[in-house]
Order: sequence, then structure tokens, then C-alpha cells
Amino acid sequence: MKCLIDGCNASGKIRGLCPICYQAAVASIKKTCITWGYLEDAGLADKPQHKPSGHGAFTKALRKLNDNKALHKLNREEGDL
Ligand SMILES: [Zn+2]
Repeated sequence: MKCLIDGCNASGKIRGLCPICYQAAVASIKKTCITWGYLEDAGLADKPQHKPSGHGAFTKALRKLNDNKALHKLNREEGDL
């Protein structure tokens, strides 16, 4: 599938964008107040594909890490009392 961006002929890999356009989109989101939802509505990005491996597994691992951190924080706060 071709990259969604007009004038870009690379193949779309992430959210319908090629890696270069995807990075540009991420940079724009960080720099401005636009969101992926805005880009999706404008037809400049696809919704993320949820695959059983890769990104999903990473997100799950990250959530677990954050849960552990929250637990540590809670324990520490209780210890201060
Ligand atoms: Zn592109």
C-alpha cells in the first residue's frame, strides 16, 4: 500500500504512512496540539492496526512497568506516614 501522503510514493507501513511521513507526523504531534485523531479525520493517517505481537506486547509490558512503579510509589507514601 502506498503512503497516504500526496506526493510521497514510498510504501505505507505504519498508520498508512511510510516511516519518513510517520516520523514527520509524530514530530508534528509533539510540536503542535494536533492528535492522531485529527490526522485520521483529515485522511492523513490510518487508525493503528492492533496486531497480537510487537506494539501490543510492548504496550502491555510498559503498562506492567507503570503498575509496578505506581505500587512502589504507594508503598513509599505509606511508609512515610
Ligand atoms: Zn510518505
